[in-house]
Amino acid sequence: MQKSQKIAIVGSGLVGSLLAIYLKKAGHTVHVFDRSPDIRLINFSGRSINLAMSHRGWKALDGVGIGDEVRKIAIPMDKRAIHIKDKINFQHYGKEGESIYSISRGTLNRKMIDLAEATGVEFFFEQRIWDVTLVTATLHIGETERGEWQDLKYDMVFGADGAFSRIRHRMQRQSMFNYSQEFLNTGYKELNIPANADGSHKLDKNSFHIWPRGSYMLIALPNLDGSFTCTLFMPFEGENSFASLKERKDVEAFFEKNLPDTIDVIPKLAEDFFNNPTSTLVTMKCFPWTYEDKIALIGDACHAIVPFYGQGMNAGFEDISVLYEMIEKYDNDWITIFSEYEKSRKPNADAIAELSYRNFMEMSTKTADEKFLLQKKIEKRFSDKYPDKWLPMYSRVTFSHNPYTEALAIGDQQNALMDEIMKMENIEQIWDSELVENKILELLSK
Ligand SMILES: Cc1cc2nc3c(=O)[nH]c(=O)nc-3n(C[C@H](O)[C@H](O)[C@H](O)COP(=O)(O)OP(=O)(O)OC[C@H]3O[C@@H](n4cnc5c(N)ncnc54)[C@H](O)[C@@H]3O)c2cc1C
Repeated sequence: MQKSQKIAIVGSGLVGSLLAIYLKKAGHTVHVFDRSPDIRLINFSGRSINLAMSHRGWKALDGVGIGDEVRKIAIPMDKRAIHIKDKINFQHYGKEGESIYSISRGTLNRKMIDLAEATGVEFFFEQRIWDVTLVTATLHIGETERGEWQDLKYDMVFGADGAFSRIRHRMQRQSMFNYSQEFLNTGYKELNIPANADGSHKLDKNSFHIWPRGSYMLIALPNLDGSFTCTLFMPFEGENSFASLKERKDVEAFFEKNLPDTIDVIPKLAEDFFNNPTSTLVTMKCFPWTYEDKIALIGDACHAIVPFYGQGMNAGFEDISVLYEMIEKYDNDWITIFSEYEKSRKPNADAIAELSYRNFMEMSTKTADEKFLLQKKIEKRFSDKYPDKWLPMYSRVTFSHNPYTEALAIGDQQNALMDEIMKMENIEQIWDSELVENKILELLSK
């Protein structure tokens, strides 16, 4: 049992609220501060951003006994539905029974704050943290940056305050603090496919829908109320860009030409397009993540990644699983807990940042390429037959707890090997033959 500490968490987002449950259950006093109003009191019925939860996320939720509560608000998606010009190709994500889960971020966040409160965590909303004194773990809170601040001292502070973290901002001012931030030239905008009149879904409910179109793509994830939340990822400038779609008629003509099967299902296309903001996508890396035994960053505050692998929240939840492993291992030695936590997580955060960046190409371009789909079919066939010899990269990231670093390294080797296989003569005809299988076995044994 750990000695009880007085802990502040800045940020009541998904990572902050789950971390609060873990720390409270470990016997600490936990206060969570957020600059926003209580999400449970906000009406967000008009728009519901959703996320894909996978193995790493579930492990962290199950680890503190709340997985089943969350499963009630999740929709399994066992495949991609790839909408190419005049047909839909279905591509299963993993083995039979393996799915990623669509979940509304707002609904999940509300549920987690409820569960944290029920555990005894105290929340303080509309409390803006402007700064932190690292050596004494003191938060500085106030209405404005230049107004009066209140100082609140804790034994330790966790910065779960997202990609533009104030806690990190203070840590950045130390010598030897590394930091980088890179925005993509691609942004995103949300659109909505409403439910049918009887509440059913207009598209297959258990699929992650993708319209891959090269430099841009549209995706759609199901919601419990029968609707889908769509996200259009597109360059800010140039041909086929947000800048090129200035007026209602541009948007309608663009969708009619390039995404014709969405016209009937997105009735408020132009309204949504012009009312909803165009948001940016950023990759942020930094190190160190902790300061002595006083301060630790967690979630997007220390590793913001682009969303193309659906792993941002999952990686943040895995931070918590790893932190908790260290707590169990090192008991009250918080200096070691923090240093082992950041040492274990940093390379993995860098690996998933890289994989996520690369996955934009896979989703937006390669899923429309017949040769790529064939390659995936060959990999799947081989993996089904020799599961101990081949775990596809997507499965290693999504349906396993193996380190992201391993997924990146082994994925690169697998890709090099598959390049050889795809060069085999008549591969389109012989893809499911013993010849191909034996060639893979031969290449693997080298
Ligand atoms: C388009 C898109 C799609 C995504 N899809 C997926 C997906 O499918 N799967 C997945 O796993 N991840 C996905 N992600 C990533 C995921 O949303 C994030 O990784 C996750 O929400 C990070 O949670 P967090 O708690 O670390 O930070 P945040 O959710 O950013 O929460 C930070 C909290 O801190 C508060 N805060 C900030 N500054 C202060 C301050 N100064 N004082 C007080 N409070 C403060 C904020 O109000 C906020 O509540 C997606 C992201 C995007 C943009």
